[in-house]
Amino acid sequence: MPTAPVDGPDEWYTVLDPVWQCAGAAEDSVLCVGCLESRLGRRLMHTDFIPAALNDPDYGHHSQRLLSRLRPATED
Ligand SMILES: [Zn+2]
Repeated sequence: MPTAPVDGPDEWYTVLDPVWQCAGAAEDSVLCVGCLESRLGRRLMHTDFIPAALNDPDYGHHSQRLLSRLRPATED
């Protein structure tokens, strides 16, 4: 899916280098949450993300899927 649509929910985020490398993704490639998770074989957790404004759940207009990963795990 598009990671940064002009007016829709975005999946624009940055994860820690080891997470990205573990997924076998090139440094300059862009993956949506679903594609990254299928490469990793697991769900992303809030600890996978770099502490940055971009990864703040309140920043921009993130998709619900990305938000659910950015927030510390709750019962689900
Ligand atoms: Zn995708």
